[in-house]
Amino acid sequence: MTARLIDGNALSRQMRAEIAQRAAALGQGGTRPGLAVILVGDDPASQVYVRNKVKACGEAGFHSVLEKYEATLTEAELLSRIEALNDDPAIHGILVQMPLPKHIDPQKVIATISTRKDVDGYSVQSAGELLAGLPGLRPCTPYGCMKLIESIGYDLRGKHAVVIGRSNTVGKPMALLLLQANATVTVCHSATPDLARHTREADVIVAAVGRRNTVTREMVKPGAVVIDVGMNRDDEGKLCGDVDFDGVSPVAGALTPVPGGVGPMTITMLLFNTLEAAEAAAGQPGVGAGK
Ligand code: NAP
Repeated sequence: MTARLIDGNALSRQMRAEIAQRAAALGQGGTRPGLAVILVGDDPASQVYVRNKVKACGEAGFHSVLEKYEATLTEAELLSRIEALNDDPAIHGILVQMPLPKHIDPQKVIATISTRKDVDGYSVQSAGELLAGLPGLRPCTPYGCMKLIESIGYDLRGKHAVVIGRSNTVGKPMALLLLQANATVTVCHSATPDLARHTREADVIVAAVGRRNTVTREMVKPGAVVIDVGMNRDDEGKLCGDVDFDGVSPVAGALTPVPGGVGPMTITMLLFNTLEAAEAAAGQPGVGAGK
């Protein structure tokens, strides 16, 4: 058996076309979805990420603003800029690119973003909404993983899902989203003894560790769905995930590649969240962010 490839690029293209259509329809009613992206400092990787986000906004017909500040920006200045964006009716999503310079407390920054504009879904309020099963903005990467699983028509009800990693941005929200979809969820982390014992029992594995070859062939049950969130470099410097793709692909039922799996979905879900926040701001009935 060779695993079905879950193509994140294809799903992203399809979803972005749908998002652009919904944005155009919303625009006819006078609301153009708007995203503000804030970058503090000159981290080269962050510069690429924010550029890609702004570009994706343009392609979807969104309004976007990119605000770049020197690394010397004070925390108070950043917070007051966010407060101004909270009050700006043309902006429906606010994203502050991490990491921030050391003198700025990221938790304070995230807490200052209005919950209805928290399109990264990182705030304590958004996390609480997810935990409580309430509508809200979901963190983009795990939300994208859910869309990838959905895209192959896989029913999570009653399935055993194993999430490897428990970060606030990926592992924990991933576990909660899977739970909400009626999976039975096990969360593994660096203090989990015998990781393979858990993964071998899993119908679904989501690997979000940041270490190559964390999931190898003998750790996967035949037919399992394997979602690889990891972004690492191999010995040749090529991008690779947490899963040994060549080893696992003959065993798994479905598998995301790296690159071309989860990666493209993260920006797509940022657009999706911004669109839903704009629809909610326009009072569209039946639209609930994070449904
Ligand atoms: P993180 O904050 O470093 O969390 C990594 C998690 O992996 C931690 O919970 C850690 O456990 C766990 N872990 C470490 N070694 C382990 C081991 N040997 N066995 C089991 N668990 C282990 O990373 P993150 O932000 O969640 O990101 C994870 C990966 O996803 C990274 O490669 C990142 O680059 C990638 N990522 C990709 C996207 C995308 O768009 N494709 C988006 C976000 C992240 P402890 O909690 O015990 O330390």
